[in-house]
Amino acid sequence: MRVLIISDIHANLSALESVLEDAGEFDMLWCLGDLVGYGPDPNECVNLVRGLPNAVCILGNHDAAILGQIASESFNPEAREALDWTRNALTESSTEFLKSLPESLESFRLIEQEHAAVTLAHGSPRQPIWEYLLDSYSATSNFDFFRTPYCFVGHTHIPVIYQLVDGKDTATLIIPEANTEFNMTPRAIMNPGSVGQPRDRDPRAAYAIFHVEDELWEFRRVRYDVKSAQQRMKKIGLPDRHILRLSAGW
Ligand code: ZN
Repeated sequence: MRVLIISDIHANLSALESVLEDAGEFDMLWCLGDLVGYGPDPNECVNLVRGLPNAVCILGNHDAAILGQIASESFNPEAREALDWTRNALTESSTEFLKSLPESLESFRLIEQEHAAVTLAHGSPRQPIWEYLLDSYSATSNFDFFRTPYCFVGHTHIPVIYQLVDGKDTATLIIPEANTEFNMTPRAIMNPGSVGQPRDRDPRAAYAIFHVEDELWEFRRVRYDVKSAQQRMKKIGLPDRHILRLSAGW
């Protein structure tokens, strides 16, 4: 069974389409939040994801801010500008879809296999909407907040694996190489990076495929038409900073 793991699409349809094309066939899709915010194609991205068979999504902080569930003041001025534009651009049906998303999913069991249960959260299992897992220290303290062998998170836009090894106090931080497979060993927190706004100085869209039976994390990168996404952002008048950063991945 192949599960496509995507996160932080941020309304970038060019990136999302390239990922779906590159990923090939999959049995399920798990989207770890932030479908919208920053990018020019919020309705297109929501419609594409919700229309895919066996798609499961959770709520991200940008999605929650658009719904008024968290204060826009907690975002920087440019992110807020994009949030305001997105709120107006979203159709009622797209907004309803975002409203239906859960904050996290626990013990999400795919098949009757010991390690097939996974926890999904946008930021972290401790604080699903807000916490950034940017280092081993914060990751380590989060292992007490989920019971499954694995937890998949997004939010930082940086692909990473935190592996908890028996006898060690701190989780090991592993940066996966693009287009390689990683043998998963319980317990671990995995982040597939961002589809629509990568921040690890690699502008290619990032995602992963979870091979359930083999317990493999296949981390992938794919080029997409950055220019066309940037042109749409410019036309709408979205902040320059968000347009620029897509070229270099920051
Ligand atoms: Zn995000």
